[in-house]
Amino acid sequence: MADLYLDGEWRDPVAGGRREIRCPADGTLSATVSEGTRADSEIAIIAARRAFDEGSWPRTPERERGALLLRVADLLERDAKEFARAESLDTGKRLVESEYDIADVISCFRYYGGIAGTSAGRVIDTGRDDAISRVESEPIGVCGLITPWNYPLLQASWKVAPALAAGNTIILKPSELTPSTSILLMRALEEAGLPAGAANLVLGTGPEVGAPFSEHPAVDMVSFTGGLETGKRIMATAAASVKKVALELGGKNPNVIFADADFETAVDFALTAVFLHSGQVCSAGARLIVEDSLHDSFVDEVVRRAGTIRLGGPFDAEAETGTLISAAHRDKVEAYVAAGIAEGAVLRCGGARPTDPALADGFYYPPTVLDECTQDMRVVHEESFGPVLTVERFRDGDEDDAVRIANDTEYGLAGAVWTQDAGRAQRVARRLRHGTVWINDYHPYVPQAEWGGFGHSGVGRELGPAGLDEYREPKHIWQNIQPQPQRWFRG
Ligand code: NAD
Repeated sequence: MADLYLDGEWRDPVAGGRREIRCPADGTLSATVSEGTRADSEIAIIAARRAFDEGSWPRTPERERGALLLRVADLLERDAKEFARAESLDTGKRLVESEYDIADVISCFRYYGGIAGTSAGRVIDTGRDDAISRVESEPIGVCGLITPWNYPLLQASWKVAPALAAGNTIILKPSELTPSTSILLMRALEEAGLPAGAANLVLGTGPEVGAPFSEHPAVDMVSFTGGLETGKRIMATAAASVKKVALELGGKNPNVIFADADFETAVDFALTAVFLHSGQVCSAGARLIVEDSLHDSFVDEVVRRAGTIRLGGPFDAEAETGTLISAAHRDKVEAYVAAGIAEGAVLRCGGARPTDPALADGFYYPPTVLDECTQDMRVVHEESFGPVLTVERFRDGDEDDAVRIANDTEYGLAGAVWTQDAGRAQRVARRLRHGTVWINDYHPYVPQAEWGGFGHSGVGRELGPAGLDEYREPKHIWQNIQPQPQRWFRG
């Protein structure tokens, strides 16, 4: 089937490429999709440019654009089962997790569909009777949107919904490993009545079909979610044509536990913080930072429970978490664990591929806990993006020490603090240099609240009103309603 969506038509790639998508949980063939090249990206960019310069979408009233996004949300809801199944087959994640993801995608479209057109800009008090001044927002233009494989449609929705609400035209490039739900999304946009060229889809590898977004002069903005090194490359390339760049990159997120935390709840959340989706979560709480006096009992219980987590495929009702995305990714996670042990970390559980023959065809790796870690270890400061928890201690009663360790990272995406002392919770939360901080919780987010990172976790914000403003240019319009010669120059 032709599944590049270019200028309102479903097309085969110019060079005719195809790619097999195999479920990482067991290697079964789940889809065969188009594999584009640079030539297809250029077609998409030109189509999006024309649709922006000459098409109706940027000039459609914002309320109507919002109404279209609400129709898309309804279509996603109608087809939620199909979307969730496709997401699970591509990623190997449990079906129930994909169902949550699709529900969140729907919320994102509803949020931006709802707020579109609610801001009329600002009227400025000029202090003069003869002048009117206002600031309004315009779309930026052609936006290239590049997304990763861990939350394929969710990450796409955080870009597609606000970019379209703001009146931009877009080209979406999902990860080559997980394209299926992006194809389904384009079908929903088409069914909802989006004009030709306003949304385009290219499929293929990053260097081939993604790189042209940051190189091409007809693209005004690149919004990227993915790894730090790719993000740096995109930003450097985009500098040549002074494009706007938004980056959502990795994280190495601290989960700080004070001795007065509710023990059972904090242990429970320490597990979900890091082992949800086998740690393939940008905001995973991969660094457990525990008050010294609590350390032994807390880590013993985390290790005991981590050892009981059941691995399994997307449709295994008993499974509690799934596979890693690929063989190469599992190799990388294994190498981080080996490096941690070589640098002095103590392996408390996991650390070896499962021997269960039922898991032999997937890229499974068990929940792994490395104790007695220090910040200089690679596994502590670099993102393994797998089910690997490192444990560090802070001095008893020493908030400064806890904050120092938690902030000792080049990243700054998310983190949590656990304590029953409300004052301490607020003090520590304020001092954590991370874009999201949870107190006595881990992972919840809502589309109304901004998401993004300090430091090397990124540039810009997604979600919330700021997530819409990312895709807008403010413009100041000044009108002199009684123009008179000024006679600044006498002649
Ligand atoms: P990745 O950087 O390898 O790939 C991300 C996307 O970029 C893919 O679509 C890929 O094809 C494309 N790409 C690769 N090279 C490119 C190039 N030269 N030009 C343009 N595009 C290119 O990342 P990944 O392995 O898919 O995703 C995992 C990473 O994503 C992790 O680091 C994770 O922390 C991060 N992530 C961050 C957030 C967040 O909200 N901050 C959310 C999810 C994932």
